[in-house]
Amino acid sequence: MMKSKVDVAIIGGGIIGLYTAYELAKRGVENIAIYEKKYLGSGSTFRCGTGIRQQFGDEANITMMKHAVEKWSTLGEEIGFPELKMSKTGYLFLLYDEKEVEQYRKNVALQNSHGVPSEIISAEEAREIVPSLDISEVIAAAWNPTDGKADPFVAVHGLATTLKNMGVVINEYTEVKEISVKDGAVEGVKTSKGDVKSDIVLNAANAWAKILNEKLGISIPIEPYKHQGIATEPIKKGEIKPMVVSFKHGGAYLTQESNGGVIGGIALKYGPTWDITPTYEFMREVSRNFSMIIPALKHVAIIRQWGGYYAETPDHNAAIGKIDEIDGYYLAAGFSGHGFMLAPSVAEGMADLIIKGASNLPLSFYDPYRFQRGELREQAIQMG
Ligand SMILES: Cc1cc2nc3c(=O)[nH]c(=O)nc-3n(C[C@H](O)[C@H](O)[C@H](O)COP(=O)(O)OP(=O)(O)OC[C@H]3O[C@@H](n4cnc5c(N)ncnc54)[C@H](O)[C@@H]3O)c2cc1C
Repeated sequence: MMKSKVDVAIIGGGIIGLYTAYELAKRGVENIAIYEKKYLGSGSTFRCGTGIRQQFGDEANITMMKHAVEKWSTLGEEIGFPELKMSKTGYLFLLYDEKEVEQYRKNVALQNSHGVPSEIISAEEAREIVPSLDISEVIAAAWNPTDGKADPFVAVHGLATTLKNMGVVINEYTEVKEISVKDGAVEGVKTSKGDVKSDIVLNAANAWAKILNEKLGISIPIEPYKHQGIATEPIKKGEIKPMVVSFKHGGAYLTQESNGGVIGGIALKYGPTWDITPTYEFMREVSRNFSMIIPALKHVAIIRQWGGYYAETPDHNAAIGKIDEIDGYYLAAGFSGHGFMLAPSVAEGMADLIIKGASNLPLSFYDPYRFQRGELREQAIQMG
């Protein structure tokens, strides 16, 4: 039986909804419920490329990600789930012309000023890190050894198990049809399994956030775009430890999983659309571009290809904050290609915002009203 009254109702059982529930429960909020229309992780989270990086080109994302990496590094231990580990295998951005190098020098200087130990290295040094790279046209690379990756399946499983132990109620296959509002304040949620009262509602529905907002007359531009990923047959284990990025090769990002297979994607997107069927065009382009970066990949087959949503805003930065028109209504959605990595900081910020009305993290950068005011942020560095 679903509870008919909760203190905080969270819409969306992706990494953002789950992690925020955890931060709220940790701060002593007792009566929390998550509503997920399918199963946990079924949105973008289980389709993500596992990457976690601090190499952004703006202060807010660098600050959020530096903090997120600290949290990713200790989460498994904190929740007694040692399988949940961030592997600090680094991010390597391959650079092919002077203009790119100049831009990355600026990014690295900014990252260094925030304590991120990134650096510009030579093509030969890049090949020492990834022996199978073709560096014939690479002139330099931006490298940060404290970036890395984590497994979204383990993260969701670890958080969900912990939340259940903490008394958070997770309602899967329960769709929120609308958010009920009375006298300018949220009253609760109407779900496919019944109505629930709650004075606080968090919309963490990412690609679908706009549907619920529009029913309330709130217009925040978050659109679903189809992006895809692939996994290959294994190559020699340990060949590609970091996430390797090349904007010259279709905005490619790729890394090797523990079984030796390579996963990643390129920046070929479709939309806005709700169709996430994998395309032949993507498979062809990803094969072509990946093989130019790592020639050994010419000899292996793609064994899996999937589509998923980047929930995109016009500046590729999320919309996070309190919705002014409706008391008790909060939004954390529109994470493009970097919501998995940001989740620990977004969750902490959102929990503080809900409980204390403010956060020490730079959440104002993600102000959902910036679009209305025409104050777009610098585009976040995005791959895929
Ligand atoms: C191919 C690909 C590669 C990516 N690679 C990376 C990467 O390397 N690193 C990274 O950080 N990010 C990456 N991302 C992005 C990342 O996956 C997302 O930003 C992140 O998972 C967003 O998490 P979320 O919890 O906000 O959204 P989601 O995981 O989409 O969760 C939202 C949930 O809300 C549910 N929902 C929607 N509407 C309702 C409703 N009305 N009622 C109840 N439930 C509802 C959905 O079913 C969904 O499960 C990638 C994404 C894709 C598609």
